[in-house]
Amino acid sequence: MQCPYCQNTDSRVLESRSTEGGKSIRRRRECLNCKHRFTTYERIEFVPITVIKKDGNRESFDSSKLLRGMIRACEKTGISQQVLENIVDEIEAQIQQNGKKEVKSTEIGELVLHSLKGVSEVAYVRFASVYKQFQGINDFVDTLKNLQRETSIELPNNSNHWHYSKSEETKPPIHTSIVGIN
Ligand SMILES: [Zn+2]
Repeated sequence: MQCPYCQNTDSRVLESRSTEGGKSIRRRRECLNCKHRFTTYERIEFVPITVIKKDGNRESFDSSKLLRGMIRACEKTGISQQVLENIVDEIEAQIQQNGKKEVKSTEIGELVLHSLKGVSEVAYVRFASVYKQFQGINDFVDTLKNLQRETSIELPNNSNHWHYSKSEETKPPIHTSIVGIN
């Protein structure tokens, strides 16, 4: 970072502090040449993202709109707004990291469903019903069946999960190899 006083490019960091709720880092620097002190800010560069909707229309990605939709789907499911905000932040970060300037609304929907699946099955089905525009009871039944199949096949993400699994008896504990005969 070039010193604003003497243009020397070597400086040392005196202090780093997280600001804007962790979204940027403020660094107090001292020029190694002239000893002047200056401040720099480091931020994630956000590229504006365009969402392509199912009808082909385009609109700019709006994280608060996504959050509102998720809050609606998750009403009375006991999921806190903080959890939903975190999911939205993660999704936005994921889209940003793709490096593409356009994203299909269906891709966003899949990301939301993927996140909700691990949080609340009720919220998952509710969000799916809106997002996939369910036409009738069969759509719900199909989604529930898929959800059931996926959750019973999926390997647990952490060791606590398998205790709740219905098929516990048929599944060996994951740490068999550690506590086994050897
Ligand atoms: Zn300097």
